[in-house]
Amino acid sequence: MAYADDNIFAKILRDEIPSFKVYDDEHTLAFMDVMPQAPGHTLVIPKYSAENLLDVDPDFLAATIQVTQKVAGAVKRAFDAPGIMIAQLNGSAAGQTVFHLHFHIIPRHDGVDFKLHAREMEDAGVLEDHAQRIRTAL
Ligand code: AMP
Repeated sequence: MAYADDNIFAKILRDEIPSFKVYDDEHTLAFMDVMPQAPGHTLVIPKYSAENLLDVDPDFLAATIQVTQKVAGAVKRAFDAPGIMIAQLNGSAAGQTVFHLHFHIIPRHDGVDFKLHAREMEDAGVLEDHAQRIRTAL
């Protein structure tokens, strides 16, 4: 399947739809997942047209994973999370729903289950508050 320029993350990169940004540089953007599996669920994407991990240029992937590490540290501090789950899905058979490469950063606490994937929309006010907490922790 060829990369589709009208996917929702491509629109976020072009500022055609809003997002709750936490980190932005030349190669990479990080923003809140609007249907978080746990409070603080953040997504990191490259500013390049790659559908998934298997078709991204390795040089761009290096920038994406470095930012994933940096933002994951901030999410951990901001949400006082003893565990951080990194998830990355490739292809609809694996559960991928947005076909622009992204890494999920999901804070985890002992004994607290995470919600189902991409189901329940969070309030904008909550997402902005969480984004601010992560920006402060960066
Ligand atoms: P995946 O299923 O791995 O492709 O993950 C896509 C993620 O994007 C899901 O966790 C969705 O909740 C999330 N998502 C969908 N639309 C938006 C949006 N407009 N802004 C932020 N996150 C989104």
